[in-house]
Amino acid sequence: RQGWMTRLTAGLRKTGSNISQVFTGAQIDDALYEELETALLMADTGVKATEHLLEEVKRRVKASGATRPVQAKNILVDSLTQLLKPLEKPLVIGQFQPTVIMVAGVNGAGKTTSIGKLTKHLAGEGASVLLAAADTFRAAAREQLAIWADRNMVEIVSQAGGDPAAVSFDAVTAGRARGKDVVLVDTAGRLPTQLHLMEELRKIKRVVQKADATAPHEVLLVIDGNTGQNALAQVRAFDAALQLTGLIVTKLDGTAKGGVLAAIAQEKPVPVYFIGVGEQLEDLETFDAREFALALLS
Ligand code: GDP
Repeated sequence: RQGWMTRLTAGLRKTGSNISQVFTGAQIDDALYEELETALLMADTGVKATEHLLEEVKRRVKASGATRPVQAKNILVDSLTQLLKPLEKPLVIGQFQPTVIMVAGVNGAGKTTSIGKLTKHLAGEGASVLLAAADTFRAAAREQLAIWADRNMVEIVSQAGGDPAAVSFDAVTAGRARGKDVVLVDTAGRLPTQLHLMEELRKIKRVVQKADATAPHEVLLVIDGNTGQNALAQVRAFDAALQLTGLIVTKLDGTAKGGVLAAIAQEKPVPVYFIGVGEQLEDLETFDAREFALALLS
């Protein structure tokens, strides 16, 4: 795990917001709190989570009688961990056969790559996986998914130009007939403002439900950790349309500011099943609140 933590830390550091810098002075004073507020906002933490964290740190510093900035920093690590803790949740499969997982996200968020990584992760747990290419419109999207299917040696249900909901229905039916453990449905990328496409997602969900009354069992949104407050807006829009059960936050090895997870925890807490820390198949990690807080503040 050391490797990805280092990459996460390096990625978060690239932003220059470097929150830990705030704690290098001689004392805990108003200037420190002001700098901390700015650093948190610059890391995409958002106004509400920033206010919450500032209040927490001030309160706990007072209560503990801490006087050294390093103590305030440790208090911030604890406060951030506590804020992020509700986002920690494992993705559980095996309760249904198949477990149907719908995956959505805006273009470029890393959805297709994440599906490839997730397939490898699930296969590593011994699960048989079937991929459904419900992005029937873009040939490139189908081809991309087919490449990930090949790499993972799993089957794929795909149909050029077909109806996305019909392909999803067929995949769930095939998954059940073939005794698969998981059916992963890749949906077309979109912008949250493309409401007609949101309707298409809702239709996929409804039709999947017709194939299996208990499905979909998970509705995941893939968000790009670099997009800051925009990612929060996406979580809101997709949740309103689909009732999300989980998130995959990608590109945290890049220039992500990381604070957006605190904003999500404060304003729209949807569990973070995984984080993406690279472009390779194995660069997917389960989310750990304390490790993340430590990486953000190291
Ligand atoms: P989609 O349009 O949402 O399906 O996005 P893709 O899966 O095609 O990914 C878009 C780009 O982001 C590709 O170049 C991926 O290699 C890259 N990418 C995806 N996830 C990660 C990640 O966790 N870290 C990094 N560094 N790049 C990623």
